[in-house]
Amino acid sequence: MKITIASGKGGTGKTTLATNLAYLLSQKSPVILADLDVEEPNSGFFIKGTKIQKQKVFRMVPDWDKEKCVLCGNCQRVCKFNAVIKLGEEVLVFNQLCHGCYACSELCPQNALPMKSYEVGKITEFEQHNLHFVEGKLNVGEEQAVPVIKETINFVMNKFSPDILRIFDAPPGTSCPVIEATKDADYIILITEPTPFGLHDLKLAVEVMRELKKDFGVVINRYGIGNNDVIDYCTNERIPLLGKIPNMKKAAEAYAKGELLCESIPEIKVAMQRIIKNLKVCEVLS
Ligand code: SF4
Ligand code: SF4
Repeated sequence: MKITIASGKGGTGKTTLATNLAYLLSQKSPVILADLDVEEPNSGFFIKGTKIQKQKVFRMVPDWDKEKCVLCGNCQRVCKFNAVIKLGEEVLVFNQLCHGCYACSELCPQNALPMKSYEVGKITEFEQHNLHFVEGKLNVGEEQAVPVIKETINFVMNKFSPDILRIFDAPPGTSCPVIEATKDADYIILITEPTPFGLHDLKLAVEVMRELKKDFGVVINRYGIGNNDVIDYCTNERIPLLGKIPNMKKAAEAYAKGELLCESIPEIKVAMQRIIKNLKVCEVLS
């Protein structure tokens, strides 16, 4: 079972839910938690495991060969992403903009743009008893999260037995990185807040999940602030409401200290256990 935790916007509690669920479930059987929020991975603040390994993530970009180039400008014409430009007597490649489509390389009449590998991020694996934690991280200055997300998912799929529960902490939003992080999941948990902003972004996330034809449910974080509109929306749309995490000042304090909330706040532990119970009722967990 692959469960992905996503949200329409950042700061709604994705990491809190992912780390606490993974930790509690790992008390009974092995769990893999993968942080796919590669631009800002922070599950590692809460999971204190032993580092097992680290590996680099590469993608392919063209490498200009000045000796072979005849400055015909074809590469600039074929690149849809403005990642290669002929400027005077030079051809410039902007690695951050390149999508690695190979078009310029294959259509260069002189073979002057061979593809080379280029480091864009890292994958680090940690272990804490039954909990295997895998973190994908984009290198500073890089803009394309998708290749690192894809490689982090591949790492998890290739390394661990399919019988082990996988929990993926997706990036926020509704754009390409989220699609990449959710498209192969068996179930999605959308986390939101009971506020007008939370509801607005939840609706966008629900649209995406319906487009992807995914099974999903909703968890409300910081329950107690705002209003009941999220609950009414879920009821009207027949979306399973899996649980509510109470709004508590001490939760913010524990979070800031890097503590797992289910360990330090009994009310949060109860809320997390209720979410696990509801996932079992929905037959997402056995
Ligand atoms: S297509 Fe090849 S030969 Fe033409 S400008 Fe680009 S690199 Fe040079
Ligand atoms: S590989 Fe594709 S995206 Fe990258 S520079 Fe060449 S044409 Fe542009």
